[in-house]
This record gives sequence, structure tokens and C-alpha cells, in this order.
Amino acid sequence: MATSPIWASRPKTRGLVLDLIRSARTITRIELAEATGLTGATISEVVRELMGDGLVVEAGRGAPTGGKPRTLVQLNPLARYSVGIQLERNTCVIVVVDLAGRQVARTSFQGVATMPPEQALPLVASQIDALLATAAVDRDRVLGVGLVSYGPQDRRVGVLLTPQPTGKWLDYPVARRLAEILELPVLLDNDAAAAAIGEYWMGAVDPRSTYGCIYMATGIGGGVVVAGEVYRGSSSNSVEIGHISIDVNGDECPCGNIGCLENYAGPSALVRQALATPGLAQRLALDPAGADLLTEFARVAAAANAGDPDARGLVEQSARYLGSAAVTMTGLFDVDTIVLAGPSFAVASSIYQAVIQQEVDRRTFARRPIRCGSYRRSTGRTRRRWAGRPSSCRAS
Ligand SMILES: [Zn+2]
Repeated sequence: MATSPIWASRPKTRGLVLDLIRSARTITRIELAEATGLTGATISEVVRELMGDGLVVEAGRGAPTGGKPRTLVQLNPLARYSVGIQLERNTCVIVVVDLAGRQVARTSFQGVATMPPEQALPLVASQIDALLATAAVDRDRVLGVGLVSYGPQDRRVGVLLTPQPTGKWLDYPVARRLAEILELPVLLDNDAAAAAIGEYWMGAVDPRSTYGCIYMATGIGGGVVVAGEVYRGSSSNSVEIGHISIDVNGDECPCGNIGCLENYAGPSALVRQALATPGLAQRLALDPAGADLLTEFARVAAAANAGDPDARGLVEQSARYLGSAAVTMTGLFDVDTIVLAGPSFAVASSIYQAVIQQEVDRRTFARRPIRCGSYRRSTGRTRRRWAGRPSSCRAS
């Protein structure tokens, strides 16, 4: 069925098949052939290679569909591991995941992003060593490290093109230097792009769909995935949805644009607005000099959930701005689904989801249903699969 050139790109076939198996959990060779448009013989050959390398194993038989039940294959989760690092303004999170993407160890700590990289990267490396030891994962089974952080980036050479988290990180060869310390391959990527493709790998979206992700941590980013591939643009700095202008008369943003969405709808904007709202800062015990922006923001979001009218008004206003971004995303990329991801959607996700869905329903040019929702990977209970064209908004 799928005829996209992406599916037919021969050098990527092995990775594509691995990705499909990962997102499906278990799948038959016939289903792999249907999903890729490749011949049964090619799929059988690729699966045989992957089994030979110990990456894929057979997993019983699928439900009968009229003929002989087909053999299922799945990833061998313990065959390999990888390390993920998220470097944020306030927090550095490190995870070890198995081949199926399941988290086997995690740590987070503060302060590293304010250090110069020469000081921070050895500390990050030592935390990785400790985490691998705790999880009893041998380094020779670690495929590599994915480091996600702010855009813009020169992803090809592993350099941040932004003075974030501090000016010392600008143009520093962060991926190469960390790879030298760890003696492991390190790939730098945009945090929002990584969140977007993560939804596909974790089986949270229909693998055939074109979907967008709005990612909110301390900043706002975005990603679009087309048939299992992140849309990269010309320099892997695509879908910077937090830096679209929503006010041509607005303030100048550090990015160079004016009136950027992030400065109206992001966590720092909400905390600033809450501090300027009479009585609210006192009620929520907000700290104007609070070092941890996301903690202050979470207070506002929790108060909105609890029914504080001022806090709720601010969160709803933020959500309407993000609804504008979602409408823009649907207009530019014709997406089926918009996933809301990132730590700053966690507390008030029901408000954000409802308002953003409402804006998309009301304002989308394509005049067809587009689902907006969040996907909480941490609890499993809320995990779901989205398949086919959505017809309504579903709560997370
Ligand atoms: Zn900007």
C-alpha cells in the first residue's frame, strides 16, 4: 500500500523494518511487507539478517485470519541499549533504554546547564557511567547516545547554534566532545524533533500518519513526522513553532524575530503574567527570583486545575495561543494528529488539550477532523494507539 519513496529507500530498509517492529511491538512478515510496500522475499531476508544479529526474535503466532496463523516477530529488547540525554535550562535528564525503547534506568539533576561545557560534559559522562553500572548494562551493548537540546543546531556536526543554556555552549562541539569522553557515538538532535519521532517509535500514533508534535518544556518547539520520518527541512531546523510571530508589533525575541509565540504562551511568559496579576503571586507563593522556572509554572498550572480563576484564565490564554500554532501546523503540513508533548503540558494537560482541540476544530482550513492530544509515556495506563482518520478528540 505505501508507495512513498521513503519506504522504498533501500539503504534505510533495515532501520525502517526495525522501527516498524518497535512501534507495532509484534508483527508478522506479511504485515511488514504491507506496511513497507516491499516484497515478501525482501522482508524475509531483512528479518533473517536481524534475527542473525540477535536484534529480532520470533514471538509465537498471530490470530488466525482464515489461513494458517502467521509467525510474529518482535525486537529482542535486551540485545542492545542506548542512552538518552535531555539538556534543559534547569535540568539534565539521562535515561538508559533497551532496544524496544523501554526505560531501564533514569536520573536527573540540576545545575549542569549553567556550567561551561568543558565542566558539564565530564559530569554528564560520569552520571552515564554510574547509571549503566546501576542498570547492569555492559558498555559494549550500548549503541550510542542521543543528546537532545535547544534549536537551532548544526545537527550534522553536533553543535548548538544558540547561546543556550548559556553563551558558553554556542558553537561548542558538544556531540564530538562528549563522544570523546564516553568513547561512544553521540548524536545531537532537537528536543522537539526527538519527542515527535518518539511518539512513532513508542506506537502512540498510526505509523502511516502525518502528524505534528508541539513540545513544551521551558521553551516551545515542534516536529512533524511523515510516514515514520521526521521532516528535517534543509538544515534540520524545521517546525520551530515557538518562534512564529503572533504579533508583528510585539517585542523582539532573542531568536531575532518579533512577537514570538513562546513569549506569550510559554512557561516563562505565564509565570511573568502570574507575577503581574494582583493577588495571584501571593496566593500561589510564586518566587519572583525562582531559579526553577518549571516549578513556578507548575504552580500556576496546578492552580488552574484547582479552579483558581486567574490561573485558569492565564492557562487558557496560553492554550489559545498554542491553538493558533496548531492551526498553523495543520495549514502548513496537513497533519492528521497533533500530539502535545513535553513536561510543561503534564500538569494542566486537560485544559490545554480541550482548548487547543477547540481552536483546531473551529479554525482549520482543511475542514476535516484533526485530533489533538497528549500521550503520557510514564504511566502505561494512558497509553493508546491511534489508528485511522480520527473523528473526535479523545482525552488522555
Ligand atoms: Zn523567537
